[in-house]
Amino acid sequence: VLRARDVAVSYGDEPVLEGLSVGVEAGDVLAVIGPSGVGKSTLLRLLALAETPDDGTVELDGTDAWALDNGDRLRLRRRIGMVFQEANLFDASVARNVEYGLRVRRLWSDRLRDWAASIVGPSTPTDAVTEALSVVGLADRGDQPAGSLSGGEAQRVSFARALAYDPDVLLLDEPTSDLDPRNTALIEEAVSAARDRGIGVVLATHDMHQAERVADRAAVLLGDGIAEIGPTDRVFEDPNDDRTRQFISGEL
Ligand code: ATP
Ligand code: MG
Repeated sequence: VLRARDVAVSYGDEPVLEGLSVGVEAGDVLAVIGPSGVGKSTLLRLLALAETPDDGTVELDGTDAWALDNGDRLRLRRRIGMVFQEANLFDASVARNVEYGLRVRRLWSDRLRDWAASIVGPSTPTDAVTEALSVVGLADRGDQPAGSLSGGEAQRVSFARALAYDPDVLLLDEPTSDLDPRNTALIEEAVSAARDRGIGVVLATHDMHQAERVADRAAVLLGDGIAEIGPTDRVFEDPNDDRTRQFISGEL
């Protein structure tokens, strides 16, 4: 279980998140939705332990990450995979970028192999990098320099790299914003497969339909903490909060 508890972040004297608490369990997909600039990416970076909260705690299985020394925190962080809104690939080949994910985790687990097989079907045993790339439909692109990929391809490589971590928790910041319908479906399938494998997923998205398709729960961020959190269907069809209703109907 990954949980932010009463976290606050501000940039300069501009508060972005205040007193916000949210968590994700194993095998749970949580969508984070809300208007642009409200703090969705900030929340995901906090959960990824890539940013320090000004206040509050981020806990993985009850361990307060920022109370640990750097080495222990790094070990905790290895259990969390993140796909940033900007693909954040290194200036190296596609294969090297994915390999990095494997190296961080120092293993190529059976779980990941099963996972890949559940999406692309049982394959002839191949190397881990190719397997992770096959999940995002880029198995034959390992040698291409990452810098020469299209935005959508880079996004998919970034996803493959996160898969290669075999994380306990996967944080996805608008992972399909640059993708066509076919590749969007591919990523959504991978998210569902991740859930089935007991991975907790947090997905920031502008696409309400995507949230409805893949998320068990939805958290609506509207500027001062979480306006509403609950089962996705309920939040969309029968929001408790007036502003959630306005946001969902496009009035906010
Ligand atoms: P979008 O839907 O457009 O991706 P978001 O909900 O992900 O938006 P964030 O990227 O979390 O929003 O940003 C929240 C607010 O914090 C914005 O007003 C942004 O300008 C500000 N912000 C984010 N990072 C920084 C930073 N490093 N320095 C200063 N301000 C920042
Ligand atoms: Mg964002």
